[in-house]
Amino acid sequence: MRNVIIIGSGPAGYTAGLYSARALLKPLMFAGYMSGGQLMLTSDIENFPGYPNGIGGPEMMLELREQAERFGLEVQDKNVERVDFSERPYRVWVEGREFRSESIIICTGAESIWLGVEGEDAQKGRGISTCATCDGAFFRDEEVIVVGGGDSAMEEATFLTRFAKKVTIVHRRDVFRASKVMYERAVNHPKIEIKTHRIVKSWLSDDNGLTGAVLEDPRDNSTETVECTGAFIAIGHKPITNFLESQVETDDNGYILHKKNTMTSVEGVFAAGDVVDTRYRQAITAAGMGCQAAIDAEKWLEDQH
Ligand code: NAP
Repeated sequence: MRNVIIIGSGPAGYTAGLYSARALLKPLMFAGYMSGGQLMLTSDIENFPGYPNGIGGPEMMLELREQAERFGLEVQDKNVERVDFSERPYRVWVEGREFRSESIIICTGAESIWLGVEGEDAQKGRGISTCATCDGAFFRDEEVIVVGGGDSAMEEATFLTRFAKKVTIVHRRDVFRASKVMYERAVNHPKIEIKTHRIVKSWLSDDNGLTGAVLEDPRDNSTETVECTGAFIAIGHKPITNFLESQVETDDNGYILHKKNTMTSVEGVFAAGDVVDTRYRQAITAAGMGCQAAIDAEKWLEDQH
């Protein structure tokens, strides 16, 4: 029986862990088999205050975890399979074992969205990836495509110039969601070409792997083929909420809704980070919300006794 169980382990989870450990709530975290969240797949974080020279994503997650563990956060690198929030104490199942807790903080974040076009499934994890940091080095001196017009696409494309001979960014509009600084860095890079008003219709491959993409201009439906041996999809993310089986209210896209401060539709169940956030989705905002959720959980627990 626990005071707080934290599900998930990105900046929101570790910060919630840090605060609830310092509040002497003896929190237990299920960090997931792939602990650390999306920042484990990020190269340099340049916009987290306090790191004037930037810091690697995995390095930052390790340090956040160490900091929280120093104050007593207990971490298990396991996935939560299912939950039962129908009565208190709440129940959580991990590898078939049941855990009970008075309160829960959900920080499971989000995962990459794929395009879902013809030829993609066969090349997933081979020629087509959603993580340049993980797979970029496989494409040394090759030509690659990055799909998307947000910060992720700009970051992936710029990172890929370390290895690839040429990087083509394919974006469906000519307006970019990316921040100005990241867009400028990409657009001014000699190895990067940007193709706007293009959608990927299908991926082409042969026995050796990916060979290209068929792109369509939605304005006149004209198509062209671009050669590439690697492709990176950076078109956004979807929240990881399946394991909740609709026991917590979400919006139509699955993002958890806050009802009072960081409390969800279930009393004593809180949520923080990208699993909630449809707008900011930054490491610093996730960490801030993790802090809020821990403080809200602490006050709520106090009120119960
Ligand atoms: P995003 O900002 O939502 O951008 C997604 C991009 O993918 C948009 O350009 C969108 O096009 C395009 N897209 C979506 N669905 C598509 C589809 N089916 N086919 C083709 N294109 C599609 O997502 P993100 O780039 O992953 O960024 C998410 C958040 O993380 C943002 O708040 C961003 O600032 C943050 N982030 C920050 C950093 C950093 O600061 N270092 C790095 C990465 C991400 P439309 O514009 O036409 O909708």
